[in-house]
Amino acid sequence: MFVKVAIDLALDRLFVYEVPEALEKKLAVGQLLSVPFGRRDARGFAMEIIEERGKAEESLRLKDIAAIVDETPFFSPVLLELVRKVAAYTASPVELVLRAALPAAVLKKNARARELLFVEAAGTTASSMLTPRQTWLCENVTRLGGGWMTQLCRELKTTPASLKALAEKGAVKISARARRRDPLAGRRILPSRPLPLNAEQASALSAISNVAAHSTLLLFGVTGSGKTEVYLQAIARELAEGRGAIVMVPEIALTPQTVQRFASRFGDGVAVLHSALSDGERYDEWHRIRAGTARVVVGPRSAVWAPVKNLGLIVVDEEHETTYKQDEVPRYNARDVAVLRGSLEGAKVVLGSATPSLESWMNVRRGKYALAEMRCRAGAGTLPSVRLVEMRSDGARRGGGIFSADLMDAIRRRLANGEQSILFLNRRGYSRSVTCEACGASVECPECDLPYTYHRADSCLRCHICGGWAPLPARCPSCGAAALTYRGVGTQRAEAALKKCFPRARVLRMDADSTSRKSSHDDILGAFRRGEADILIGTQMIAKGLDFPNVTLVGVLNADSSLAMAGSDFRAAERTYQLVSQVAGRAGRSELPGEVIVQTRDQSVPVLIHASRGDFAAFAAEELKVREECFFPPYSHLAVVNFSATDAKTASDWAIMYAASLRRYAKRLCECRAPGAKALVVGEALPSALEKADGRYRWQIVLRSASAAEIVRAWRWVSSVRPAPRGLRVGVDIDAFNLV
Ligand code: ADP
Ligand code: ZN
Repeated sequence: MFVKVAIDLALDRLFVYEVPEALEKKLAVGQLLSVPFGRRDARGFAMEIIEERGKAEESLRLKDIAAIVDETPFFSPVLLELVRKVAAYTASPVELVLRAALPAAVLKKNARARELLFVEAAGTTASSMLTPRQTWLCENVTRLGGGWMTQLCRELKTTPASLKALAEKGAVKISARARRRDPLAGRRILPSRPLPLNAEQASALSAISNVAAHSTLLLFGVTGSGKTEVYLQAIARELAEGRGAIVMVPEIALTPQTVQRFASRFGDGVAVLHSALSDGERYDEWHRIRAGTARVVVGPRSAVWAPVKNLGLIVVDEEHETTYKQDEVPRYNARDVAVLRGSLEGAKVVLGSATPSLESWMNVRRGKYALAEMRCRAGAGTLPSVRLVEMRSDGARRGGGIFSADLMDAIRRRLANGEQSILFLNRRGYSRSVTCEACGASVECPECDLPYTYHRADSCLRCHICGGWAPLPARCPSCGAAALTYRGVGTQRAEAALKKCFPRARVLRMDADSTSRKSSHDDILGAFRRGEADILIGTQMIAKGLDFPNVTLVGVLNADSSLAMAGSDFRAAERTYQLVSQVAGRAGRSELPGEVIVQTRDQSVPVLIHASRGDFAAFAAEELKVREECFFPPYSHLAVVNFSATDAKTASDWAIMYAASLRRYAKRLCECRAPGAKALVVGEALPSALEKADGRYRWQIVLRSASAAEIVRAWRWVSSVRPAPRGLRVGVDIDAFNLV
């Protein structure tokens, strides 16, 4: 018997070992094995058991595996299949997917359950042998049904030595027992009962009950429509049938309140996987899942790999969130992995969102996903009205060019009433477009109709899709004014302008600068919640999952700049729609009615009109037309090949060479298909918007194809015929979100 082993070396290959006869019966796929590797010992996972050795190995003298580290497999056969499929889809080494799928805390060499001393009554000693004090202790240990040594010492005001003396006389028994490290220990969690559902929730729940196992349902429900209650009751049904569930939430939404809602309903049956857990907690939670004691898992992206037994349901909340995409190898999207896992394992998948991704929406339209809709708020409050306000370059002087007269009035009213306001400024990373301060237009690539990205190094404009470029023009191509700027408004500038307009208002600012200290994020939000400030101003990082009852005004200072600032981000309109509806969801969550003001340079931008009306279907219909015309996702898969090197020439030379090779490959591919078929579209090599990071120069190429597998094949081909030299890093990001 032979076994193929994945050793954690990122070599992207499996190694074949012989199985000694003594181990043949015990061996199973998914087990952790100890194997000789070179001159040292290595550990790896059994991926495949083979009875006959293959041709390639025939002549080799194979080594024996040394031992089975743990007979209980770490991966079920289905999870291994999932790992293999994700590795193939993302063009990542299988070892790295295995590593991503298992918490490091579980694999650490010295990782084990925590054992503590437990004292229980033995009840065999005649009380005549005990002192009165010992008799009293013994009675109390019996009354309490035993307990942990430290706890008993505290409660009975005694010492370990006294209890040990008691044990020597045979009155009690002391033994080491595993004691769970509970991430929710010390939290008061009151049990909650299912709420009576409203009509929309009830029909969503029955839609979930009615979809077949293996299949996916999109739960499209406005903010506050009570999606979480629907998840809870859908999970309860699975548990009643003896199945388990995984709930994925974006890391930022994985707050104590979220976890609390699940723990209140399902008690100890909930395992939490969270980046803030200690290694011990993570180890215990993972083992409780594998053992089947915890049947509901709540966690971020990595929870999709949780070894839940008899999985019945996976919920992906806020499925459109980009944090589900892992930013390092393996670059998988946990939402997509969830859908795949559901289909492999026979579980249902529910994707929930108030603003579904166009990928998921498209899958509904193509009949791949079922749909359930919830249009009304379930709890207190109504959805606020959203008003678009045009910022004119000549007017708005009073507000420092940042606040419109309407918004200023609205803020003033809140200050007078003692209510709170939140102001959002839309700013995205490094990518900068060039806009005209006079007419608001941005300078666009004529090929792709997307804003160019400004590159400071050579003062030039580049399109990040096709790779085309243009010099920075002196005047605005649409209105001719000499008012082009590539600077956006920053939060600090907005804060200063706000303080000038309202000197007495108490203002808190939250952006990447003000939250670099670990706790300050919570500090700022806590202070705002306690009413220690009137206005909170920040970037879109404050748009998500926050709930402030006293906030009655939300303003978006520069809604259209998310369209422009995003550079050549083809998802800019989608992100703008998401931002406006998220923001609208922040206001009016309580009895107080909410108002949302969205400032824009141009009121006729369709995405803003649809967003202000909350008309997702109209937005999606319009946006999908554009995506189809331009061959963007969801009509294509878009991948980015990234290059980085410490010297600029290596990065650019190799990017240009790869682009040329890939274009030849694509041409041959198209020739053997139908003429004109877009089997693979290869963009020019170009410097990334973030041209240099960590001392490395960065270049990129964008690839598009109707088939992701086609892109992976092209990538595998080009990286095998042109292996990267030392010092150059090349990687591919399939279904990339991040084009910088
Ligand atoms: P979503 O996840 O869709 O944004 P939530 O699940 O957070 O919405 O629900 C919003 C509010 O409505 C919560 O305070 C919740 O307790 C309340 N809620 C949900 N369902 C019901 C219901 N059936 N009856 C009363 N209140 C509900
Ligand atoms: Zn272009």
